[in-house]
Amino acid sequence: MKTTTHPQNGNGSYSQIFRVQTEALRAMHDFLSGRGLIQLMPVILSPITDPLNHSVDDAYITYNGQKLQLTKSMILHKQIAVSALDTRGIYIVSPNVRLERVQSSDRHLLEFSQLDIELKTATASEFMTLIEDLMIYIISQVKATCADELEKLNATLRIPRRPFRTHTSWSLLEEYGPHYESEISRSEDDLFWITDFQREFYDREDPEHHGHYVNYDLVYPEGYQEALSGGERDYEYYVLVRKIRERGQKLDDFAPYLELARAGMLGPSAGGGLGIERLIRFLTKRSNICEITLFPRIPNSIIKI
Ligand code: AMP
Ligand code: MG
Repeated sequence: MKTTTHPQNGNGSYSQIFRVQTEALRAMHDFLSGRGLIQLMPVILSPITDPLNHSVDDAYITYNGQKLQLTKSMILHKQIAVSALDTRGIYIVSPNVRLERVQSSDRHLLEFSQLDIELKTATASEFMTLIEDLMIYIISQVKATCADELEKLNATLRIPRRPFRTHTSWSLLEEYGPHYESEISRSEDDLFWITDFQREFYDREDPEHHGHYVNYDLVYPEGYQEALSGGERDYEYYVLVRKIRERGQKLDDFAPYLELARAGMLGPSAGGGLGIERLIRFLTKRSNICEITLFPRIPNSIIKI
């Protein structure tokens, strides 16, 4: 088993990388608060969490006789929060723990952060427009404030052109086969969208096209792959119960969330989660996600510090 060493990038570029990160996070907050969204604090311990679309080892702790998980994402809590609050939308910079089983990867960590956004009663297209504006703003701000750092990092950033291209997952599967995301990410030169993935129970199934979903991934060009996943949400109790059962998952694992749905306390929303470390890797054009974190938690490695 490999041992995670510290520091990882060994080339003296941390100060430039973290300056880019600081400016990207500042731009993110400026933009989202300017659009009327409110920031919430993350939830890390909970009896319920995101089932995810792929399997990872669960991170459980027991406290006071209660079994709690370290949250894999804020999806269920942010759906509850945006439904409860009188606001256009919310955002959270949330730590996620995912004990990934992937053997070797230049873009997976066991612990990372997401910028989680959820807009009340929004459509997919409203959310996608907000994210296009956000990405253009972050990239423009980083270019304007970090010119020296980008030069030292040998990172050339281009402001994406609108409209971002959109492909459906099934058309890409037909054209490129199962590894379509990495293939098309290498061939595109601007950020683009992939829509309509069959995945978690909370992503809204298109009522007019059974088996199709109103969801999306934002993907980086130049081979950097996935930036964000999200969708419109299902929120009606009977729909959620059917979809959880269809996926072979246990209703009990989501009991407090389903109780709120049954009480009519979930409403329509659309949102998504953007991986912060993957964003910084893209902005600084590093080849491995470990290069942009001081204390990387690498799948299948010993964590030294
Ligand atoms: P997901 O909901 O699984 O699509 O995760 C949301 C976003 O978090 C992804 O689009 C990635 O940018 C990022 N992400 C997911 N898993 C990891 C991981 N293991 N390490 C680093 N970033 C991740
Ligand atoms: Mg995803």
